[in-house]
This record gives sequence, C-alpha cells and structure tokens, in this order.
Amino acid sequence: MSDTLADNTAKTGPSDGLAVLESRRSPAETYGIPLAVLLEVTHRCPLQCPYCSNPVELDRGSTELTTEEWKKVLSELAELGVLQIHFSGGEPTARKDIVELVQHATDVGLYSNLITSAVLLTKDKLSALADAGLCHVQISFQGNESIVADRVAGLKDAHRKKLEVAKWTRELELPLTVNAVMHRQNLHQLADIIQMAVNLDADRLEVANVQYYGWALKNRAALMPTIAQIEETSRIVEEAQVRLKGTLAIDYVVPDYYALRPKKCMGGWGRQFFNISPAGKVLPCHAAESITGLEFESVRSNHSIAWIWQNSEAFNRYRGTGWMPEPCKSCEFREEDFGGCRCQAFALTGDAGNTDPACTLSPMHEKIFKLAETEAAAEQNRFLYRNFAGGTLETEHGQDNGQDNGHGA
Ligand code: SF4
Ligand code: SF4
Repeated sequence: MSDTLADNTAKTGPSDGLAVLESRRSPAETYGIPLAVLLEVTHRCPLQCPYCSNPVELDRGSTELTTEEWKKVLSELAELGVLQIHFSGGEPTARKDIVELVQHATDVGLYSNLITSAVLLTKDKLSALADAGLCHVQISFQGNESIVADRVAGLKDAHRKKLEVAKWTRELELPLTVNAVMHRQNLHQLADIIQMAVNLDADRLEVANVQYYGWALKNRAALMPTIAQIEETSRIVEEAQVRLKGTLAIDYVVPDYYALRPKKCMGGWGRQFFNISPAGKVLPCHAAESITGLEFESVRSNHSIAWIWQNSEAFNRYRGTGWMPEPCKSCEFREEDFGGCRCQAFALTGDAGNTDPACTLSPMHEKIFKLAETEAAAEQNRFLYRNFAGGTLETEHGQDNGQDNGHGA
C-alpha cells in the first residue's frame, strides 16, 4: 500500500487531533492500520429508522460473533496499534455482554465510544459501562420532540428516553455527542435540535444528512430534502457554528445529491477506516456489503485483521487511484476525494467502479440532481420501516409505534 496514514501525516502536518495521534509513531503507522475502528456488534435494534445505515439483509443474532470472539478482536486491534473503538450496531446495548466488552476494551488499552439509540439503557447499566471504562457516549436523535422523533424512529416514547439517558450521561461526567440524522421530514426542526444539544450540555453535534444506500435508498422519496431546505440548513448551521464556538462543536456536510463534488467518503476506500460487521466481516465501510460481487474476509477466517486490511481483494479493489475510470483518472481532485463513494456509485449506476454521480463531472450527475428535485417535490411521505421482516410500510395515518419490530431476531 503506497498511501498510508504516515504518508498522509507527512503531507498535512500535526494540525489537528488525529494528526497529533498519528505523529506519535504507534505500531498503527507501521501497518497503516486505522487509529479508530467501528465495531457493529449487532444489527438488532428496537428502533426502525427508515434511513438506517445497516444493510437491507441484516445479520441475525445467531450469526453474531460470540463474547470471546469479540474480545479476541479487541485484543488484536489493540496489538495492532488501534487506539479508539466505536461500539455500534444496530443497538450495541442489545448485547447482554456489552459491559464485559467495554471492560475488555479498557483492559487492553482502547478508548471506547458507545454509539447508541439509548432506549435500552437504564441508569444502572450506563453506570456499569462508565465503571467498565467507557470514555464517550454518542446518542442519535430523530427530532427535537416526540411527535416527529418517535414517528421517524418507529418506536413510542423513544425521544423521552433519549433525553433521560443524555442527562444521565452528563451526570456521570461522560462526554456526549448528539447525532442528528436530517432529512425532509425533520429539517424544519434543525434550529431546535441545535438548542436541544446545547441544553443537554453536549460537546459535539453531528448534523448528518442521510446517505442514500441500503434502507435509505428504499425511502429516498420520503426523505429527500428540497433545495430550499438545504439552503436554509446551511444558513442555520453556519450561524450556529459562529454563535456557539467554544460551547458546541457542530459537524455538517452538504448532502451528496445537491453537492458539486463528492465527499471523500471514509477518507478514501481502504485508507483510513474499516469496520467489523456483527458476523465478523471486515468491511471498508458500513455499507460495503451493498456492493454485490465483492467478497469480504471474516475475522473467523485464518487471516489476521492486519492481513485482511493490507492484502484482501475487497480492500485493494478501490484503494488509491489506479482503479479509476475517466473523468476521475485525469482529474486534478482525484487524490482529494478519491472519486467519492463506491456504495453510492454502485447504487446509482450499477457499477462501484464508476465516478460517484454526486460529482458534477459524472455523466450521471444531472440525472440524479433532477431525480432529487422531483422526489423531494412529490410529497411521498410514507416510510418503509427498517426491521428483520424486510421492512414495514407506514400506515397512511402514521406508524403504530407499539408494534413488534422483530428486533430480537
Ligand atoms: S434503526 Fe436507527 S437506531 Fe437502530 S441501528 Fe438503524 S439507524 Fe441506528
Ligand atoms: S471527476 Fe472524480 S476525482 Fe474529479 S472531482 Fe469528480 S469524483 Fe472527484
């Protein structure tokens, strides 16, 4: 691999936290292994978000790595020089052994972050996680009040529970990030969501626009924002970033369909990131399994994680710039955005090796921009809720949020 994290640091200099960590010359540099890794410890989740980033074919509970297998993964990652672990899902606290896994991460010297919907947490459980060494909590919010938020989550009383858990998080003096996934049905609440994050004493707010693959692609017509909403969103975020400087850090990226150039998805395929699925597959991004025809290696195979990262076919297929077709191949930005998102290129063009249509230079760009405009204006508002049953269509009068969503599968 030619372009490692070490190369990257040399180019940028230690101007931010990540670069400072990289400059410590940890074993991660030798291997080029990322400093942070996402562990999707389960796909089970009590929520049914229509934009869920999990694959449409969810891993069943029976296929999940065992406690001992996850502990072995954590030990191996620590030995490789990984510094930070994100416990994610699905809902990571749906696993009965989550405290044991966090304790093991602590024991092997990993900084741990819990990415949670919060609705399964009790105060005792959160306390036990803090005692086990949990370092940070990130809670997802679907709105700033129950009517919108519970409808999007597909679960009654979810919003109230999230507020409660956020309060406990700060009482336990754990740092808190609020993650708000934004789309046409909740963008009108953005200013209030920003204020909610301030009131919750969060350190950071991620204003995340929906990425349209997996479940979100199935719900694109119901979720796609209008251009007017995007313009208003950018204005609100920019104003809040200035006003709340030093109080709340706000991350925001313009949604792909309305962007001029694609984002540097995952920092480039196989360059800065990988995640491990509930069944143990090592993936270049959480949506990579949506690309058919790519085989992903498992931690259950005979290969080490370092070998999979460096040598596996899936990681090398779109690494660097050698795989690129025109217009990327001769484009001056090819080492800035690495051609955008492979999963989006696959979802919209049928070939993950094409230029991401979010780019204005892609021959497909005009078509997807028009599609976004048309779908946003069409007033198709019913969700297909994410669940193990293959999805449940919202009733015309709104979802019955009390129904069993099969999250225990
Ligand atoms: S359903 Fe919602 S809360 Fe659950 S994993 Fe998906 S996005 Fe996260
Ligand atoms: S043509 Fe390719 S490399 Fe150039 S800006 Fe578009 S996506 Fe990026």
